Amino acid sequence: MEKVLVTGGAGFLGSHLCDRLIANGADVLCVDNFFTGTKSNIAHLLDKPYFELMRHDVTFPLYVEVDQIYNLACPASPIHYQFDPVQTTKTSVHGAINMLGLAKRTQATILQASTSEVYGDPEIHPQTEDYWGRVNPIGPRSCYDEGKRCAETLFFDYYRQHQLAIKVVRIFNTYGPRMHANDGRVVSNFIVQALRGEDITIYGDGQQTRSFCYVDDLIDGMYRMMQSGADVTGPVNIGNPVEVTMLELAERILRQTGSTSKLCTRPLPQDDPKQRQPDISMAKRTLGWQPKVSLEDGLNETIAYFRRVL
Ligand code: NAD
Ligand code: UDP
Ligand code: UDP
Repeated sequence: MEKVLVTGGAGFLGSHLCDRLIANGADVLCVDNFFTGTKSNIAHLLDKPYFELMRHDVTFPLYVEVDQIYNLACPASPIHYQFDPVQTTKTSVHGAINMLGLAKRTQATILQASTSEVYGDPEIHPQTEDYWGRVNPIGPRSCYDEGKRCAETLFFDYYRQHQLAIKVVRIFNTYGPRMHANDGRVVSNFIVQALRGEDITIYGDGQQTRSFCYVDDLIDGMYRMMQSGADVTGPVNIGNPVEVTMLELAERILRQTGSTSKLCTRPLPQDDPKQRQPDISMAKRTLGWQPKVSLEDGLNETIAYFRRVL
């Protein structure tokens, strides 16, 4: 049985990944410090004999025996990663060093959950993996963006220096059940506001774009990346190329929830990227992967989830 470590396993993506790994017969060790993750995300797994939960902060060393590591530990929404920015950088950088050290000692294959934020506010569109990005190194988003960029650097240096088996995926905006109701991300904000009959908060003029991937598709891509041949290190973009403006997203969510909420505007946060869309040719070519779930279907699943939890 494959022994698989998932850091950040009690979070939104991590908990779905644990589900997938358990379903596929892996022996899963979920490590989390519960900064943004919750036990309720993985409570249904606690009585499975091959699921183990460990409270641990990845900025400290971890000595366990594993075959594969998925490194997801890191707050992902702007309000959470900006709450304690120094800790965010430590989590990405010290966390990567510790998990890479662990992979080196155990000869495990290690996958990094990187992000489209490494492209910053991009001047090429859609973003391909060879684009180096346009990131502000000293702004409010930098703790996250630069932390993730440095983690990628560490992964490739461990690969070149210590011949580690590395896999780097750059995840684009992902949504679905188990998103936090109040972590400020746009899909959860709009759905919660629509269901509560509150105003929908459009930041800026709402013309900025994002491309949203449903969580099941994302997990499938990440899983395929881990199974890929040793020559596949990435970075590989994983996301859904269907691009929408925030205004279009708001209108869609109003329609799909049947809500009568009104739109209101709020100031655009500093350094908010204007557009973002993944070029997924590499994922198609090397992983045989592409998203299957439409925005309409994915939003319906997510709306149904929030109706249950609110
Ligand atoms: P999340 O906040 O739900 O999950 C992150 C998890 O990491 C949480 O359970 C949190 O408690 C845990 N964590 C944070 N700091 C830790 C530490 N020091 N030690 C141990 N655990 C720690 O966010 P998510 O959306 O599930 O994101 C998971 C990963 O995917 C993150 O690395 C994020 O950067 C990346 N990612 C997510 C998206 C997205 O759209 N959701 C996009 C790009 C990248
Ligand atoms: N480390 C860990 N678990 C292990 C092996 C290493 O957490 O099983 C940590 C350890 O704290 C170390 C870091 O990973 O500081 C980097 O390890 P590496 O072997 O690359 O470097 P070194 O030990 O020489 O600093
Ligand atoms: N956004 C918005 N209203 C909200 C929350 C976010 O208009 O209530 C916008 C935000 O300014 C950004 C986009 O939605 O342009 C996506 O924001 P999110 O925080 O979800 O992701 P990220 O900016 O990290 O891609």
